[in-house]
Amino acid sequence: MKCPKCGHGMDEITYGGDVVIDRCTHCEGIWFDIGEAEALKGKWMGDALDRGNPDEGKKWDAVEDIACPRCGKDMEKRSDSNQPHIWFEECNEHGMFMDAGEFTDFKHETIADWFRSLIKGAR
Ligand SMILES: [Zn+2]
Ligand SMILES: [Zn+2]
Repeated sequence: MKCPKCGHGMDEITYGGDVVIDRCTHCEGIWFDIGEAEALKGKWMGDALDRGNPDEGKKWDAVEDIACPRCGKDMEKRSDSNQPHIWFEECNEHGMFMDAGEFTDFKHETIADWFRSLIKGAR
């Protein structure tokens, strides 16, 4: 598989025995098949996967209108409604692509939101 952003090759990485993700060897963006990002988020396992430099990731975040690496259709730019500062590309049928650093942000921000909601609840 080729990286939808920069066109370099991608490494397949197996995580936890059942989740396989693809990470670009050049821009270090990460492709998740449908359900994988949620599965990894649930396992709190993202740090070792998302080793790319967030500054490098931001550079590639500016690249829009990319095609799904599985079917070649244009991917849609999406953001998590709870985390509107994070943008990623999604194919409805196949999965999503995050730039380097975005997945770590995605996960940590969720934990921070959880703490914030705890504090709010205590008052
Ligand atoms: Zn790439
Ligand atoms: Zn697709």
